[in-house]
Amino acid sequence: MTGKPMRLFLVAGEKSGDLLGAKLMQALRRLAPAATIEGVGGEAMIREGLASLFPLEDIAVMGFTSVIAHLPRLLRRIDETARAIVDSKPDALVIIDSPDFTHRVARKVRALAPAIPIVDYVSPSVWAWRPGRAPKMRAYVDRVLALFPFEPAAHERLAEVRMTEALRLVGVERRYMQGATPLEILRGANLSLRAGEAVALTAPSGAGKSTLLHVAGLLERPDAGDVLVEGASTAAMSDDGRTSLRRGAIGFVYQFHHLLPEFSARENIMLPQMIRGLDRKEAGKRADELLSYLGLGARGTHRPAELSGGEQQRVAIARAVANAPLVLLADEPTGNLDPRTADHVFETLMTLVRATGLAAIIATHNFELAGRMDRRITLRDGLIVELE
Ligand code: ADP
Repeated sequence: MTGKPMRLFLVAGEKSGDLLGAKLMQALRRLAPAATIEGVGGEAMIREGLASLFPLEDIAVMGFTSVIAHLPRLLRRIDETARAIVDSKPDALVIIDSPDFTHRVARKVRALAPAIPIVDYVSPSVWAWRPGRAPKMRAYVDRVLALFPFEPAAHERLAEVRMTEALRLVGVERRYMQGATPLEILRGANLSLRAGEAVALTAPSGAGKSTLLHVAGLLERPDAGDVLVEGASTAAMSDDGRTSLRRGAIGFVYQFHHLLPEFSARENIMLPQMIRGLDRKEAGKRADELLSYLGLGARGTHRPAELSGGEQQRVAIARAVANAPLVLLADEPTGNLDPRTADHVFETLMTLVRATGLAAIIATHNFELAGRMDRRITLRDGLIVELE
């Protein structure tokens, strides 16, 4: 394969696009190391090596009145960006997460240089904010792949960038010391989990379900083997690197909701987003979207103690997906609920998985619920075994 290296022009229009753009840059560096990237981005993309045309703050203007107030500068920046793109003639213009600015730039480029392909880059995890739109993902992937009709390897690389495999465990070993004797819990567990797939994990108590979820969720390091998130190895990552990856890519739901009692439902959903760097306003907006999507629109201001068990667990689910993770790990999420409520909470989980392309491992003792998932796995002698 001798294709020319890809040249991409990435344009982010706001902070969430900047974080997503940085992720795309990391993936491209891994999968297409020769690709050159120009564009407009913020701190996160600059950290990945982008020489941004101008500071993202110049154009990250939200709300109608602010846009009007900053209009002359915005129009100048749109022109400047479009001209830079037309001069540079990239293989593709990638607008990220589609805010207004990026769309205007795209329209201008389309008018000036219709031959430059334009990709609207929205990751599957971002679709989590717009439940129900996941089916559009396939058409979107096809559009991305159609950009490089003469470069088959680029097809494969971009398909990988599209994160079809959310999580992979390779030869994972985990042992605990019991006095002087090691207790071998995982002895080389392998698993591949794709976006939009729900896997039931059933095994007797003590078999190592929680251990598996902790290792898969980057809470514990394996003693040997590797956990790959979106194809990226975590074996050699620093603790800080793993923590930051976990915060963005993985959500947890436990048997007990673990909501912070002194905060409202809405604030509980906002917190993980603010820890990740979103501002209050944006975090609040996403919390409201999730609350209303989960049928909890009227419960936002309630504290956990003022909610029913099922509602508490649905808020915990909303919190787990607040940062639009790729992977959801649930440890007996309905284990503490009566059967009817359990069913409702489980349906909520499954709806989210189906609608947003989330990949989920759900540990449960409930075989009826396990039967409603896509695959069933168990742990046998420290290995993951597919059931049926
Ligand atoms: P499960 O979730 O299937 O009930 P766990 O993963 O919680 O199983 O535990 C598997 C085994 O590992 C149990 O025997 C448990 O006592 C042991 N174990 C779990 N965590 C630790 C730890 N931090 N230190 C020592 N032993 C542990």
